[in-house]
Amino acid sequence: MSIELPEARILASQLDQTLKGKTIQSYDLMDVERMTRIGFINKDIFEFDDLIGKTVEAATSRGNVIRIKLSNAVNLLLAPEYGGVVIFLPEGGKVPKYHIRVDFTDGSKLTTRITSMGLIYAVRDENLTDSYMYKRDFMNGVSPIEPDYTWEWFRETFGGQNRQPKPLLVGKEAHLIGISNATFQDVIYRAGVHPKHKVSDLSENQLRGLYDSIKLVMYERLRLNGKHQFKDIHGKTGSYVPAMGPNMKDRHCPNCGTLIQRLAHGGGHVYLCPTCQPEN
Ligand SMILES: [Zn+2]
Repeated sequence: MSIELPEARILASQLDQTLKGKTIQSYDLMDVERMTRIGFINKDIFEFDDLIGKTVEAATSRGNVIRIKLSNAVNLLLAPEYGGVVIFLPEGGKVPKYHIRVDFTDGSKLTTRITSMGLIYAVRDENLTDSYMYKRDFMNGVSPIEPDYTWEWFRETFGGQNRQPKPLLVGKEAHLIGISNATFQDVIYRAGVHPKHKVSDLSENQLRGLYDSIKLVMYERLRLNGKHQFKDIHGKTGSYVPAMGPNMKDRHCPNCGTLIQRLAHGGGHVYLCPTCQPEN
């Protein structure tokens, strides 16, 4: 299950409430050889020794990245954005499979397992900007759940762009952070926008629809404890079901009854309703 902006925020606020003040006694890494090779975890795994004896001061998130801030300018960065499980275990709980297990002095534990692409890094404050994901999400872009995501900003930034919406919303050149291909499908369906529709050709209503849908999807996922396959740190699942996406394969549009289509688009696939999202 991917951990995107709303799910990362849910985890970060739970971690903040649950871990604050706890001191790390030890840690263990498991099955990390491959992750080290491809750069998903510190190249020098002994950098995790920095965690020992440090106390959790806060946990925050921006975009898809979670920062657990420890004493003495040490951080544990978790970014299981394409898939991962972060679980808190009070004393005595059964330990699930993990890549990192952090043991606190009070007997509780935190485990994280990356199930697809994602990062686990022990980083000192002065090296935070060396982390590609930290730089991408904490230092760049506008976040759709922060006050600078306004309609005026959106209209000014996107209106008139002679491009399809996806590269403006998702990926390296996006003006926003935290929007994945999955969220993109959900959002454009709700806004009635075809993925190949140039943004400059959208009506004011359609553009406003995009802006509103992004906000709605983010806040609904926060309200419903994340997407339906997501598990929070206590193992409780989320209940947000996307309005459009792979879950709508071979189904009919709930608005108009048209069979949902799958279209290759922008290096991935997009599910859409050809009636509610006309190409022109
Ligand atoms: Zn439809």
